[in-house]
Amino acid sequence: MNYVGNIIRPPSEHASLILQVTTGCSHNQCTFCGVYKEKKFTIKPLEIIKADLEEVQKYKIIYKRVFLADGDALIIPTDQLVKIIATVKSMLPTIRRVGVYANTKSILKKTLAELSELKRAGLGILYQGVESGNAEVLSRINKGATPQAIIEAVEKVKAAKMKLSQTYLLGVGGKEYSLAHAQDTGKLISQSVPNYVSLLTLMLLPNTPLFHSEIAGDFTLPSKLDLIKELKSIIENIQTDQNFIFTSNHASNYLPIFARFPVQQAEVLSQVTHLIKNFDEALLKPESMRAL
Ligand code: SF4
Repeated sequence: MNYVGNIIRPPSEHASLILQVTTGCSHNQCTFCGVYKEKKFTIKPLEIIKADLEEVQKYKIIYKRVFLADGDALIIPTDQLVKIIATVKSMLPTIRRVGVYANTKSILKKTLAELSELKRAGLGILYQGVESGNAEVLSRINKGATPQAIIEAVEKVKAAKMKLSQTYLLGVGGKEYSLAHAQDTGKLISQSVPNYVSLLTLMLLPNTPLFHSEIAGDFTLPSKLDLIKELKSIIENIQTDQNFIFTSNHASNYLPIFARFPVQQAEVLSQVTHLIKNFDEALLKPESMRAL
């Protein structure tokens, strides 16, 4: 495969074909994100994409799902993206679902008609990196989105009948905004109610502005106990009777959770509350086992 640089994908796409159709991220300004710092954003030519698909055909690997990497493939102009998806489906007829990372800006750039066209073409799920429901935190991390814009994007994705998976980042508000970040994140999840909510925990990477803010004393990571308190506050502030999957089983987290909300919400809240009352670091994932 003609992969350029490191490739990342959502954990739930572990069995999917990872097809790189862009390099880097069109935004590339989030202060905590170091994944694409060294990569220039480009859309790969269709010939290169076809060559990768021919390689998959050659090895006769059967995939049912494909994830289009890198950071924000939804930014590709709609006609071009429809052509890429059609090429994938014609060369690999077993593909049933296509997924991409999609930041709020790129969702809002598409009209509802365009999103619906992409859905008909086979784009079934968008992974939206939200990070926080708090407006000040979103501004500080340069996310390029406000809570209102995030809700607007969610409504558009739902109107296009696509599945939506949102990620939020424990610790991204630092010590200063820890509680506000958690409370507003719970509220934004209640307003969004995507199909999947996935929590990750901030890990500071040396090539990021946030790492340097920490060195300069302008940002302090919450303690492990405070991160678990953030988790509790997020769960407490989720109020909806609609079903969705709530997870914190990404490798960066100290406490893995997989639960069906709202059915298991009270049970999970009680477990997290018990952990806080009887806090013992030995019950958390060891630092050496954490990864991004
Ligand atoms: S977090 Fe997502 S949108 Fe932000 S720079 Fe990284 S890849 Fe781009």
